[in-house]
Amino acid sequence: MIKLIHASKIYDKSGVQALYDVDFTARRGEFVSIVGASGSGKSTLMHVLGLLDTPSAGTYLLDGEDVSHLSARELSTLRGQKIGFVFQRFQLVEGMNALENVALPLLLQGVVRPERLCRAEKALAAVGLSHRARHKPGQLSGGQQQRVAVARAIVTEPRVLLADEPTAGLDPSAASDVLDLLEALHQKGNTVVLITHDPAAACRAERRLRLEHGRLFS
Ligand code: ADP
Ligand code: MG
Repeated sequence: MIKLIHASKIYDKSGVQALYDVDFTARRGEFVSIVGASGSGKSTLMHVLGLLDTPSAGTYLLDGEDVSHLSARELSTLRGQKIGFVFQRFQLVEGMNALENVALPLLLQGVVRPERLCRAEKALAAVGLSHRARHKPGQLSGGQQQRVAVARAIVTEPRVLLADEPTAGLDPSAASDVLDLLEALHQKGNTVVLITHDPAAACRAERRLRLEHGRLFS
C-alpha cells in the first residue's frame, strides 16, 4: 500500500537534512505508529507520506504506483482521493461550524451540497458529535475540535489516514477518545499511520517504529 524506499529529505533553502535513507512500508489495513522526539523528522515524514512534499532522493510507491516524479497537480489529485490527514492543531476553519468544516474536503472535490451535508453528518455521527454540528470551533473543547478534525479526515473515505501528533495538547480522556477513533478506522480496514512523541499513544498501534534524528528504526 505504502512503500518508501531509501527516502531522504533535504530542505533546499536551509540545507537541513530531515530524513536519512528511510525505508518504510505500511500494508493495506495496517495500524503503524512512528514515535520520535521533537525535531526528529516526524512532520517531514508525514508530509512526504501524505504527498504534501516530495523526497529529495528515493522512491515512494503508493498502491504500487511510483509517485516520486508526479507533478504538483497530480499529487494533489491523488492526495484528495487516497489520503486523510489529522494535524496537531486541528486546523479547523474558525468561521465555519463543525458540519461545514467536515464537509469542506467534499466541496473541494466538487461533491454537490445535499450529498456533502449528508456525508458530513454521517462522519460527525461517527465521531459522536452530531449534537455539535452547528457549533463553531471556538465553541468546542480541544478534544471535540480534534474529533471534528478526524471526521473531516474520514469524510472522503480515504484508504490511508495520517495523523501527526493528534493527541498533543489534549487531556488523557480526550486523547484516548481520538485514539479509539483511529483504532476503529483501522478495524474498518483502513491503513492508519500515527505519528507521535507520546510512547503511550504509540502503544495503541499494531506495529511501532522509532524516528531518531531523521533515521527510522523498528
Ligand atoms: P518533528 O515533526 O519531529 O518535530 P520536523 O519534521 O518538523 O520534526 O523537523 C525535522 C527537521 O527539519 C528539524 O531540524 C526542522 O528544523 C527541519 N525542518 C522542518 N521543516 C522545515 C522547513 N520547511 N524548512 C527547513 N527546515 C525544516
Ligand atoms: Mg512535527
